[in-house]
Amino acid sequence: MKIETQHIPADGMVLSFKEATESFSVLAELKDSGQCRIDDPINITVSILPEKEMFKVKGSISFTVRLACGRCLTDVAFCLSRRFTLRYSRQIPADVHRNDGTEVEVTADSIGLIYFQGDEIDLRHTIQEQVVMALPFRPLCREGCKGLCPRCGTDLNQERCACRVDHSDSPFEVLQQRHWPGNEQDRGS
Ligand SMILES: [Zn+2]
Ligand SMILES: [Zn+2]
Repeated sequence: MKIETQHIPADGMVLSFKEATESFSVLAELKDSGQCRIDDPINITVSILPEKEMFKVKGSISFTVRLACGRCLTDVAFCLSRRFTLRYSRQIPADVHRNDGTEVEVTADSIGLIYFQGDEIDLRHTIQEQVVMALPFRPLCREGCKGLCPRCGTDLNQERCACRVDHSDSPFEVLQQRHWPGNEQDRGS
């Protein structure tokens, strides 16, 4: 995943390759801890174009990850992909002037800039970061998954249970109809 800058032609180059999750420390850790199991390999395509003092890197990644549904805990495979554009620079660019003449402080974050030293661009960290950003924040096995009964743990997508919990989707209805402990009307029933 290291590219020697002297080998990048003036009109750019495109690379397609596959990498095992073991090549990325954070992804290997996630896999080992069982938090998410990214299936090998991660498919990566990047185009690299010299641009003044910088290199413009446009990339796309795709991979499959297995995660537990956030509601019913079923194991689900997600096919994920993500595109990104970043610029690699050997040095921090000088202040950029706006059209009206005022100076704008350029920070690395604001323009997707990554600094590198020496004669190599190492894509490992960038690709790992993109994979992590592509992961779903709250994975669901399906839109409207009914989840598990909070009392008996029955998977409500499969069957209904006998618990007196309203299984409707509206959280407000649940609040109104749930029989809270200590509710007078609920006693002795
Ligand atoms: Zn689910
Ligand atoms: Zn139940």
